Amino acid sequence: MDVKELAEQISVRFSEQGVHVPVEEVEQRLTSLVNEFKVPVDEAKRSVLSYFAKRYTKDGVPDVAETVYTRIAEINAEDKWVNLKAKVVQLWEPNALSIAQVGLLGDESGAIKFTSWASANLPILQEGGSYSIRSVVTKSWQGRFSVSLNKATSIAPLDEEIAVGRAETEIQGAIIDVQSGSGLIKRCPECNRVIVKGYCTEHGKVSGVYDLRVKGVLDNGDVVTDVLFNRELTERLTGITLEDAKEMAIEALDHNVVADKIKSLVIGRYYVLRGNKTPRWLLVTDFAKLQTIDEQDIDSILERSEGYL
Ligand SMILES: [Zn+2]
Repeated sequence: MDVKELAEQISVRFSEQGVHVPVEEVEQRLTSLVNEFKVPVDEAKRSVLSYFAKRYTKDGVPDVAETVYTRIAEINAEDKWVNLKAKVVQLWEPNALSIAQVGLLGDESGAIKFTSWASANLPILQEGGSYSIRSVVTKSWQGRFSVSLNKATSIAPLDEEIAVGRAETEIQGAIIDVQSGSGLIKRCPECNRVIVKGYCTEHGKVSGVYDLRVKGVLDNGDVVTDVLFNRELTERLTGITLEDAKEMAIEALDHNVVADKIKSLVIGRYYVLRGNKTPRWLLVTDFAKLQTIDEQDIDSILERSEGYL
């Protein structure tokens, strides 16, 4: 039996009990479970029956009052369907066309990575916005949980603003490298992806918008971490504004001068960084430079002390 037939059968079964459940909704949820989450058909059927039984009252109106929201910190297993009330703390750059949006959702208990799949065609979440996000699936990767927004997910903006607890990490160490893709870059005006030679992987030839960033590597003596500074923090880190960077590039007829200058300013320096951890990056939200005695200081100390020797 294919998913369409099964959906009809389920819808009919509900209507026999006087409950109207739209067949499209049943089909969407079944398709998502079977195709995307590889749930066996029998199990998907059971899951869908119990889902709609809980969700629909006798008059066929979704029973919102019954929605139980899970606190983000309480997510401790994968492949669970949960509802969240959360604020979009950050949006990151999707690294695949199959992903519409990726970022961090937070509530007062913590924060969690989310992925909104392009195939689900969901409303676009705004950074800083608070939402009721129902029917997301928990995932786990390398011991970290995330949530997947799929075809069965429903999103509604909230009037209240969700307060986000501190979920940030702090690390301290030396920046030992500045990776390629740092400095003056151009982004697609449509999707914000970084463009290469005027081409966006999704939107083809576009006229890019300049941006500034640092993709650094921080060594704390134990482990190295990839760290990402956005434009605002890059400007603070280097003292080079986006306007300065554009002028530098125009004068040298080369974008790389900006990255080179950044390297000379930050490599070997010590910082304490605070930010949000993704599987690969620390997305820096704040930082402070740590005082160190660098070679210049040692030279000047030696010069001054010569008089006493
Ligand atoms: Zn694009």
